[in-house]
Amino acid sequence: MSKNLRIEHVSRIYEVGGRKVTALQDVSLLVKPGQVVALRGRSGSGKTTLLNCIGGLDRPSNGRIWLGAEEVTDMAERRLVQLRRRHIGFVFQSHALLPTYSARENVDLMLRLAGFSRQERQTRAGQALKLVGLGKWQDHRPFELSGGQQQRVAIARALAPRPAVILADEPTGELDSATGQQVLRLFRQIADEQGTAVLIATHDLAVDAFADEVVHLVDGRVHPPKSE
Ligand code: ADP
Ligand code: MG
Repeated sequence: MSKNLRIEHVSRIYEVGGRKVTALQDVSLLVKPGQVVALRGRSGSGKTTLLNCIGGLDRPSNGRIWLGAEEVTDMAERRLVQLRRRHIGFVFQSHALLPTYSARENVDLMLRLAGFSRQERQTRAGQALKLVGLGKWQDHRPFELSGGQQQRVAIARALAPRPAVILADEPTGELDSATGQQVLRLFRQIADEQGTAVLIATHDLAVDAFADEVVHLVDGRVHPPKSE
């Protein structure tokens, strides 16, 4: 489903023991369907906070986030749950696959949460696993797969509901550089073939070659600041 993701003047300020920590400051960004945007910055620069705000896991202190015509920053918790299950796919550094479930069962579980029928789950899980190159591995459990393959299962799981946006937080953090490149290439392919918008938070410089846009965060701000 093609939807623009609009981030408008988003700030997030945490209160820690009476002290204010500015995690994000006036961040604006437009991500269009099929675009890959790399969010780069050092540890502590606000990358995870931004992804969490987009995915409705956290709420900005100021500013708004829109997915298509819907304002994420205004949504009731119930609708946010739906949003996270159907319209936004998450990929994390440690993929958190269920160890006793096969690759296919891990993907199927996500589709079940998203409310798809048995038949639809079968089709979508098969397609997603094939797209990530694991068609032949779908009955294998995580411990029978390499780190790169496990991350591809996690990507298939995020992708299977055909979300408008995939949010990937340090998706290559635990992979060697060659495997990391394969994963980045896969995100590029997903964006190109499915029209999914992909946001990748990382300090991996290799991401630049696969991204349409690289956004640098320094202390919670986009750097250099965009002139308006
Ligand atoms: P990154 O993902 O780029 O490493 P984060 O978004 O995790 O950066 O963190 C940005 C800043 O916000 C850091 O200074 C961090 O300590 C702070 N921060 C993040 N989450 C919280 C929280 N839940 N409570 C207080 N401070 C936080
Ligand atoms: Mg982070």
